[in-house]
Amino acid sequence: LRGQMMTQPLLISALLTHAETYHGDTEIVSRTVEGPIHRYTYRDAAKRARQLANGLISLGVRPGDRVGTLAWNGYRHYEIYYAVSGMGAVCHTVNPRLFAEQIAYIIEHAEDTVLLFDLTFLPVVEQLAAHLKSVRHFVLLTDRAHMPAHTAIPDLLCYEDLVNSHSDRYAWPEFDEETASSLCYTSGTTGNPKGVLYSHRSTVLHAFASSLPDSLDISAESCVMPVVPMFHVNAWGLPYSCTMNGAKLVLPGPKMDAISLYELIESEGVTMTAGVPTVWMMLLQHCEKNRLRIHSLKRVIVGGSAAPESMIDQLAEHGAELRQLWGMTELSPCGTTSTPKFKHRDSATAVLRSLQTKQGRPIYGVQIRIVDDAGEPLPHDGVAFGNLQVKGPWVLSQYFRRDLDASHTEDGWFNTGDVVTIDPDGYMKITDRTKDVIKSGGEWISSIELENILVGHPAVAEAAAIGITHPKWDERPLMVVVLKPGASATRDELIGFYEGKIAKWWTPDEVVFVEELPHTATGKLQKMKLREQFRDFRWP
Ligand code: ADP
Repeated sequence: LRGQMMTQPLLISALLTHAETYHGDTEIVSRTVEGPIHRYTYRDAAKRARQLANGLISLGVRPGDRVGTLAWNGYRHYEIYYAVSGMGAVCHTVNPRLFAEQIAYIIEHAEDTVLLFDLTFLPVVEQLAAHLKSVRHFVLLTDRAHMPAHTAIPDLLCYEDLVNSHSDRYAWPEFDEETASSLCYTSGTTGNPKGVLYSHRSTVLHAFASSLPDSLDISAESCVMPVVPMFHVNAWGLPYSCTMNGAKLVLPGPKMDAISLYELIESEGVTMTAGVPTVWMMLLQHCEKNRLRIHSLKRVIVGGSAAPESMIDQLAEHGAELRQLWGMTELSPCGTTSTPKFKHRDSATAVLRSLQTKQGRPIYGVQIRIVDDAGEPLPHDGVAFGNLQVKGPWVLSQYFRRDLDASHTEDGWFNTGDVVTIDPDGYMKITDRTKDVIKSGGEWISSIELENILVGHPAVAEAAAIGITHPKWDERPLMVVVLKPGASATRDELIGFYEGKIAKWWTPDEVVFVEELPHTATGKLQKMKLREQFRDFRWP
């Protein structure tokens, strides 16, 4: 017997229409690349998103086309999110922190037809434009007054002209909820970055689930500042969940330094913010040094890397709760959060603290399990540790334009690459990573890339890159190097060898020389063993 309720596709455009209708005067505040603070409302944003949709149609964008962005967290980027997905095209947020060659690879792999970018990224786009064969139109996210007098980019368009020259009469089309909506590339352990293609259905379901009280807890009473970039897993879905709930949005633009963030929190009354530990470390240090107090903040969502325990107390002094979020690009990204249960209500502070230091328990919709190396499920007893696998309606089923690979099991679970324990209450704790990428300030550094470059040095026989805990950046790369017999090279020489070959912030901080590296029977580098060996390494 079938139920008799209406079937309506879950579409991203409906989030904005809802906010426009019921939260029309709620503000979206942005720090712009040009400098001033920009403020407008959901009503204004919805109108301009429709104008932009008409503008993109005039440029020939069709359903299914990929539209690329290189942009900070700002209102124009927000409009692009809704215009592009709303019209049935795919909003492809490119991470501008990557090296120029990787940016080009990602844009070409996705075959973006239009590229919209902030003024900050004009130099890199000028450098790449001639190589980006699929891109038919380049649009600079600014007004006429800030357009460059000369540029190497042919027929560079001005975003404000594009929006303002089109009508806001546009009806968001209705289509299948499984239609692709946005695309984000993640740096894997091997080879080139891999694309995660979200759908309208997965995005809207993720927005519901991530708004729940035990998830990010977002409501119309919230004022939310996503510090996590909109080019990083859609800013953890906040542009969708905040719109769904009519929360006030504060977008910090290019300025993620402590002074600028503190200013925005205080002046806008931010109640919740989200980002990687590095950011909060800087903010807390700034407050301590200048004896500042954060007033409005109730909650800080910390994810991307483990939150240090000391941060919990430091934030509590400002009246804010630290809530840990575990997620991945492949999970849209929310998977687990570290919130207590009713039974913990009278628990001692130490018990609550230990819950907060775990990555947390699953949000409804996400299933988790651990398996051993043979793929056999392990008990959830808080002791056994194994590979974490996940399943759920906002978990990736296959990478964009790639064959099925070892990332998925035959029975449909996704291998996260995290090694964890799960306790009987469902709280998951990361103990290690099987993947070897290094995480610096919330962004991946490919260890493979660092190694490949260094073995190109004439004196180097073998090199391994490992992430070492760093007080500010969570992890920084350390190179462990075996020199060729009879050859010699200094630390400075090897570090200098990276110049011009990778993004500056990828450059390893230190080199240590060893006689040999640990290998498995099949000759693979044993990174786990190496990490173990350098566990006590201290940065000079
Ligand atoms: P994100 O945007 O969350 O950084 P990525 O896909 O870039 O997403 O990275 C996902 C990986 O980051 C996870 O597999 C895990 O190793 C690590 N990670 C994410 N959240 C946490 C957390 N709260 N604690 C520890 N590690 C985390």
